[in-house]
Amino acid sequence: MAIRVTVWNEGRHEQINEEVRRVYPEGIHGAIANHLLTQGMKVRTATLDEPEHGLTDEVLADTDVLIWWAHIAHHEVSDEVVDKVYQRVLDGMGLIVLHSGHFSKIFRKLMGTTCDLKWREIGEKERLWVVEPGHPIAEGIGEYIELPNTEMYGERFDIPAPDTLVFISWFAGGEVFRSGCCYHRGRGKIFYFRPGHETFPIFHNKDIQRVLTNAVRWAAPVDGPVPRFGHHPEPLEKFEG
Ligand code: ZN
Repeated sequence: MAIRVTVWNEGRHEQINEEVRRVYPEGIHGAIANHLLTQGMKVRTATLDEPEHGLTDEVLADTDVLIWWAHIAHHEVSDEVVDKVYQRVLDGMGLIVLHSGHFSKIFRKLMGTTCDLKWREIGEKERLWVVEPGHPIAEGIGEYIELPNTEMYGERFDIPAPDTLVFISWFAGGEVFRSGCCYHRGRGKIFYFRPGHETFPIFHNKDIQRVLTNAVRWAAPVDGPVPRFGHHPEPLEKFEG
């Protein structure tokens, strides 16, 4: 069965910034979706300005992995939609949060911290080092990914310690950053991936696309047991006290 992916994008930069439109003529969501379609996945897109931000109950129920890109309009995302996405993650839906999505309501709710960081936009070089080479998200990647021009994100990144850290970034300006962070929340898996500033062609980069493919496959739900909580008065074994 093909993995069902929903690529969610705030979609505002593309409306107001000519430079972003030039880099992503079909939107950031369009660029990511077009790549994932070549990987045999079932892909749809959704954006902030659609009713319910395009994340209706039907869409969420039909999504194995949700990808989230956002930057300037986090506050416009309705709390009701955030609560529904949160519950779907706890129930097993995968979530991949990209770049400035670190400040999204959904990521902060799942992390329980400010998710704040240091940043600078002078187009410096970034090298993302693979620090967990056996991890499925690193499959097919070399020792590192090099991006010639990026926005810098630097530590401290105020997140809980990741369950697994897959990438650490080095920037030409001197900072470092935990760039590929894996978490489990409930039955769901979350991957935060740092690259993706809107004015650079990051999502056209082959290595970045490979990481996204790998991350979707890793974050996809597994058909594991559904936990049962609460009072269990009957022991499984006969109890002779
Ligand atoms: Zn950015």
